[in-house]
Amino acid sequence: MSVNPYTPPKAALEARPAGQYWRDGKVVVTRNGAVLPARCVRCNEAASTQLKRKVYWHHPAWYLLILINIILYAIVALIIRKRAEVSYGICQPHLRRRQTFLAIGWGGFVLGLLMIFSGGAAAMLGIFVILLSIVAGFAGARLAYAARITPEEVRLNGCGTAFVESLPSATEAASEQRAMLPAGSGTCPNCEAVIPMDSKECPRCKALFGGESAWRVQPAAP
Ligand SMILES: [Zn+2]
Ligand SMILES: [Zn+2]
Repeated sequence: MSVNPYTPPKAALEARPAGQYWRDGKVVVTRNGAVLPARCVRCNEAASTQLKRKVYWHHPAWYLLILINIILYAIVALIIRKRAEVSYGICQPHLRRRQTFLAIGWGGFVLGLLMIFSGGAAAMLGIFVILLSIVAGFAGARLAYAARITPEEVRLNGCGTAFVESLPSATEAASEQRAMLPAGSGTCPNCEAVIPMDSKECPRCKALFGGESAWRVQPAAP
């Protein structure tokens, strides 16, 4: 049996939405540079502020470096971490709550440092105060954070249930996007480029359509 080298793998045929954001269980899936709807990511109320945030992520296996040397881990993590930018909304009460936790975190951190430099028995307590400030303050201040970053997707954790459930599913996002395409055009199932329905080949990624190829241009209307 001959194998057509231009036939893409079956897995790539799975519908991937071309939209800006959608939900996957408790996770918000979006794209680098995307702007999420102007509702609070924690409670889904109208947002008072739209935050443009950098999010970072690295594969969790890198945490094993902490067991060897925490400084080494910090340096490696800075180099290998993947970054993306996402804009999301936050309501006034949740923004204030975040600022309170940040103040607790920094306040505790400085207090802990002072205790360490004062020496004696207070120094040991200072380390404890610093750790507690980091956990309580900075974890409490954290809003949406990256659960995974790939070139195609930014997956966000930490969003409230009401907000997540207000977003379209992956399938809904894909068909919404296709419904907005100009007449006679569709999307390439491989790279999501907008191309004419009768294309024989995708001008962007060179995927072949028709004939022996398993790929078809995705039509605008279902
Ligand atoms: Zn809120
Ligand atoms: Zn393509």
